[in-house]
Amino acid sequence: MTARERWAASAVHRTITLGDAEISYLPDGRVELAPQGWFTLPDLVAFDSVPELLTPSGYLTGSIGSLLIRTPDWVVLIDAGYGPRKLSREQSHPSLGELTGGGLADHTEAFADVDAVLFTHLHDDHTGWAMAGWPGTSLTERPHLAGVLEAPSSFHGVSDGEQIFPGLTALASPGHTRGHTSYLIDRGGEQLLVFGDAMHSPIQVARPELNSCFEADPSSSVKSRAQTLEYLSQPGVVGAGVHFADVVFGTTADNAWHPLDG
Ligand SMILES: [Zn+2]
Repeated sequence: MTARERWAASAVHRTITLGDAEISYLPDGRVELAPQGWFTLPDLVAFDSVPELLTPSGYLTGSIGSLLIRTPDWVVLIDAGYGPRKLSREQSHPSLGELTGGGLADHTEAFADVDAVLFTHLHDDHTGWAMAGWPGTSLTERPHLAGVLEAPSSFHGVSDGEQIFPGLTALASPGHTRGHTSYLIDRGGEQLLVFGDAMHSPIQVARPELNSCFEADPSSSVKSRAQTLEYLSQPGVVGAGVHFADVVFGTTADNAWHPLDG
């Protein structure tokens, strides 16, 4: 795949290192996002300036998957994909095209020593395998954590600023959902911000006012996105966009997303 093709392809298995931690994106599937319906400020000009983001059918590509964070001290999985399901373009929401999951079944060997499963929020493209039953694993018996404002009673609800493990902190980033939560991993000063659905596409780095059509509180979403981008603008901070095409890991500079190779 060429560097240009990655912007419109769904993510493959990619791994980066952060200090003594290994961070892997484990792909589950993909969703097609119809740009003029997905974003609530339709702006053809914006997409004319980034044609590489669009597939030949005119969709943005949203990856669906999990992040596996493996340190010498603890191992967590963030988000749980969509699960072994498929919706056709006709069956999905009007602002979406095809929606598929199932790929995490190929990565069960990576789950053996997971200490906890963390969720950025509880939409079904993030909880799929947690609901469908993790194939061949005991992840259902591990603690499940999500933002305290939306966590069901069987979960541990995490609060803004709460340290979950040494070097792993929850940061409230409300808007997409009331309890939407980002996770900050710090390994000896090297940092990764897993920002979930605070941004769905790299175009929002340049156009942070673009909200998806699924924001529970759009003005909070814009504020949380601004805070996310401010955090990412600090030197040495890497971001992880769980829905970003095959450019999941990256840094920001000059109002643009700069993908890491991984
Ligand atoms: Zn999502």
